[in-house]
Amino acid sequence: MSTAAPSRTLLVTGAAGFIGANFVHYWREQHPDDTVVALDALTYAGNEENLAGVRDGIVFVHADIGDGDRVAKVLRDHRVRTVVNFAAESHNSLAVLDPGRFFRTNVMGTQRLLEASLRHGVERFHHISTCEVYGDLALDSTDAFHEDSPYRPRTPYNASKAGADHAVRAYHETFGLPVTVTNCANNYGPLQFPEKVIPLFVTNALRGRSLPVYASRHHRREWIHVLDHCRAIDMVLADGVPGETYHVGTGVEASVQDIADAVLGELGLPASFQTTVADRPGHDRRYLLDSTRIRRELGWRPTVAFGAGLRETIRWYRDHPEWWEPLLGRRPVTEDPAVWQPSGAGAR
Ligand code: NAD
Repeated sequence: MSTAAPSRTLLVTGAAGFIGANFVHYWREQHPDDTVVALDALTYAGNEENLAGVRDGIVFVHADIGDGDRVAKVLRDHRVRTVVNFAAESHNSLAVLDPGRFFRTNVMGTQRLLEASLRHGVERFHHISTCEVYGDLALDSTDAFHEDSPYRPRTPYNASKAGADHAVRAYHETFGLPVTVTNCANNYGPLQFPEKVIPLFVTNALRGRSLPVYASRHHRREWIHVLDHCRAIDMVLADGVPGETYHVGTGVEASVQDIADAVLGELGLPASFQTTVADRPGHDRRYLLDSTRIRRELGWRPTVAFGAGLRETIRWYRDHPEWWEPLLGRRPVTEDPAVWQPSGAGAR
């Protein structure tokens, strides 16, 4: 007979963003006896509406992970035992225009959160990282990134995430903080801010605007449904070994052109609804994770098939204009070719 895990208090940072909010919904459903403290700085990408439906069952704290005193008080007041750190600046294109904010939050913010967690004595600090810290792969490569592959970030976003991962490991090796890290592939699903490719394409198409497809239309990403990512984090929190890193990927790759075709097909629009735009500088060609460890050691498997999950996601944006329409004006960068010119509006 299996015994239920004792209830505990989790601090989820970046909880009003895409993956963080999906994780809070997931956790409330799967672990209803736990207390969730959802912390978010509510940057342009953070949206309290993403927590609608669970708002009454959680504690919401509007704060910056870089505010060490505030975070320490939250950890103390709520007797937090587990920290799950999603908080980050996450948009590669914005990082080209304003790299400083990425290093401030992703590196220094994470370090302050680590320090507060160490002093408070949390039992687990789980950090959400990305496949992008390893740099990119050639389109015809037969390789994949392993947990011990060298870090070779190529963009300010990737470099700031790499810096955060190094800080997390240092707090484990030097101070003994019980950390785990997951590096995940590209997530898709509901509640993703309409600057990222799938909601950007769908919301453009629904407003009669063409899809801005990068000139490097055959560059590929490995795709995972956000709920499969949440399940993986749950399994790592339950059975992951402190100090270890786990890759979370499906092995399913699709190019930006594949995504454009799927969106236009699902919405019944012609192929002419696309405009080729210049790549952002430093655009990575391809990432692919070897996820053998989490599958073998923890028994995790993706459960959402990409084709079906993508169609369902496109329909979710189609059916929820009230969710994304208010967000369009908050986007600090759109994939306008002029933005990458030295004299472009967003150039530093
Ligand atoms: P997101 O931009 O949708 O959400 C990030 C959230 O963090 C926002 O709610 C924002 O307000 C909050 N935030 C930003 N700075 C903060 C700060 N200083 N203090 C507190 N909160 C702050 O991003 P996402 O796609 O949900 O990504 C979540 C995490 O997962 C990030 O760490 C990202 O690097 C990682 N990740 C994302 C993907 C992906 O495909 N989206 C893949 C792998 C890893």
